[in-house]
Amino acid sequence: MAYANLSKAELQKVFDELSAEYKGYQAKNLSLNMARGKPSAKQLELALGVLEALKARSEFANSNGDDCRNYGLWDGLPEMKRIFADMVGVPASQVILGNNSSLMMMFEVISRGFSHGYNGCTPWCKLDKKKFLCPVPGYDRHFAVTEYYGFELINIPMYATGPDMDLIEKLVKDDDSIKGIWCVPKYSNPTGVTYSDETVRRFAALKPAAKDFKIMWDNAYCVHDLTDTPDTLLNIYDLCVENGTEDQIFIFASTSKISFPGAGVAGLATSDNNIRDFKEHTLTSTIGPDKLNQLRHVLFLHDINGVRALMKGHRAILEPKFRLCELMLEENVGDLGVAEWNKPNGGYFISVDVLDGCAKRVVQLCKEAGVILTDAGATFPYGKDPHDSNIRLAPSFPPLEELEQAMEVFCCSIKLAAAEKLLNA
Ligand code: PMP
Repeated sequence: MAYANLSKAELQKVFDELSAEYKGYQAKNLSLNMARGKPSAKQLELALGVLEALKARSEFANSNGDDCRNYGLWDGLPEMKRIFADMVGVPASQVILGNNSSLMMMFEVISRGFSHGYNGCTPWCKLDKKKFLCPVPGYDRHFAVTEYYGFELINIPMYATGPDMDLIEKLVKDDDSIKGIWCVPKYSNPTGVTYSDETVRRFAALKPAAKDFKIMWDNAYCVHDLTDTPDTLLNIYDLCVENGTEDQIFIFASTSKISFPGAGVAGLATSDNNIRDFKEHTLTSTIGPDKLNQLRHVLFLHDINGVRALMKGHRAILEPKFRLCELMLEENVGDLGVAEWNKPNGGYFISVDVLDGCAKRVVQLCKEAGVILTDAGATFPYGKDPHDSNIRLAPSFPPLEELEQAMEVFCCSIKLAAAEKLLNA
């Protein structure tokens, strides 16, 4: 029965039982972590072949004959560009490969706008007012980049179809101080939402007042399916070309959650104008990326089919963890009216909304019982969740047995925090 329908006496009884259960968990001295979306050790083993690839090879040229051990090819190996292009659905001619981090490439895109500007507009550093749109809940590291550069961050609600497009269109139409938006269009971090066809079309057709408006389209989870009914995402690049808006889009991805986080290959895809600007920016800071890492990825993955085969291995490890979390939530808090959550078809996260005002308390209760979760509020700009209700679960890292223990504590903490809140109401 929903907690809201219990009498005070019934609620007090529930609270006392939960407190006893919770003390039992505390006595176990657990040390479990579900805070960040890291692949497990088992997943990392799937890509060990990357490390073997170069050892097996006596010469280091790519198909163009360039020696990958040497300087050159500032924008990456053509074979790796092809793989990246097929992953995100863009022509290989529009791809620039970087080093190990797509987040760093996003940082550089914003940095270029800040220092030199885009499309002949005033560099953002010279503006008194500059704003960035942030679909919420979202990815804390995105928000941190634009906070670092002094943007005012504006929350945009997320729906099952993606961000609130009515609000976005209304805001950007007249306000030229709004310079861009962060998007994770497929298996969004943390809601798991994939943007609907209509949402993607509206993004491609967006006509902002700011001529230097940039859509930061972070397709980090483009091949990260977890079910037999994967989501599909419309190809925004093609639509932007149709609409003549390709200068507005920067598309990012990396092999961080395909091969090795922190030791994969990252890339971006964008228009010729943006490539020209980004080239100047990049070539001022480096002579070129780590092509040996790109080459060993090419030798290991071969092509997009190699990527898809590898992702099946990831799915086999990840899917039972996601199903376990969903099952435990359903069984423990399903009909109590104290939490709602998504069931994503892919990606790395489950987003749980507990009763308003309870997220911080739940995270604290978990911590005090030895289970570390992502900080409450982290999924919002400035770390401030206006409802204090969203919690991001990252089930990938702990082994199944540990995940089960962590979820027991989590479910108990959700109920305890809810009972506490209702008793004090
Ligand atoms: N974008 C999103 C949406 C992510 O969730 C992550 C990793 N958690 C990243 C980017 C980081 O990617 P990279 O390792 O390529 O910097």
